[in-house]
Amino acid sequence: MNFELEIVSAPVNYDAVGRCIYCSATEHLSDEHIVPLSLGGNWVLPGASCPKCRDVTGKFELELARHFFWSLRAKMRFPSRKADWPAEFFVDFILEDDSEVRVKVPVARHPTELFLYKLGECALLSGQPFDPDTRFLRPWRNGPPSELVRAVLLPYEAEVTRLSGKRVVGVSPSRVALWPLCQALSKMAHAYAVAELGLFSFRPLVTPVILNNVRGGDPTNGIAIEAMQRYIGGSVERFEEHDEVLHQLALRVVQVEGKDYAVVDLWLFALLGGAKYHVVVGELNNEALRDAAPSRALLAALGKVSVAAVRS
Ligand SMILES: [Zn+2]
Repeated sequence: MNFELEIVSAPVNYDAVGRCIYCSATEHLSDEHIVPLSLGGNWVLPGASCPKCRDVTGKFELELARHFFWSLRAKMRFPSRKADWPAEFFVDFILEDDSEVRVKVPVARHPTELFLYKLGECALLSGQPFDPDTRFLRPWRNGPPSELVRAVLLPYEAEVTRLSGKRVVGVSPSRVALWPLCQALSKMAHAYAVAELGLFSFRPLVTPVILNNVRGGDPTNGIAIEAMQRYIGGSVERFEEHDEVLHQLALRVVQVEGKDYAVVDLWLFALLGGAKYHVVVGELNNEALRDAAPSRALLAALGKVSVAAVRS
């Protein structure tokens, strides 16, 4: 992962929405990046988020940018509003009694990797009721081999063992938490569907996930949890690294029990193999679609956009 990233695709500016795409407020709207700027996104939906919703989406996006993907972003020089890249990153050492010790490691020694969760198909599309025991949730990483990670961090491991008196059984240079990841997936998918189809073309299904404000903890809102289980999923397969694409979003329509649903497919970090996800963003309102602008009228015109990037 020792290369820097250069975003080469042109920015995309969609038509202004004029309403908050999450709560429909009409005052003090600001522009919304469909994929966060911090993850390299440059497709903008102008006038699309109110201050209250922006506060919530900003929190989980910050968690991804400054915590889960922080070392990857810093090493690969992802776009950043303030490029104050740190000198040290955290590594978690897992001890024999399952407790953890977090240690700061200088950037040069930090074994940077991409860590994601791969998900199985969502309950609506698989037709299976959600069962937490059978749903695929697979940790996946792309980085130096585990033995090498362990070897590089051996001096730190020795120190942790010396201070704690316990054996180290694992090291984890990067993590991601499922809930903020699902919130970010929902936000990107919902914003993209609004950009392509218009705000009133579908009945939104994942806004409860996006707006469930539970930083650093598990969600407690039953509606949000159910929406996550029913509408957010992915593929547990392994994918080849894509040479030129950083992220790719595409829209499709799926019919389930006679109803048409808009589904957004997201391939994140394709350049590193990455993970493919899908979010059922809403039930289509076919009448509103018929009345919409001609460019949006045909489902055949459903969009697909990529953030292109090169290793520089
Ligand atoms: Zn709002």
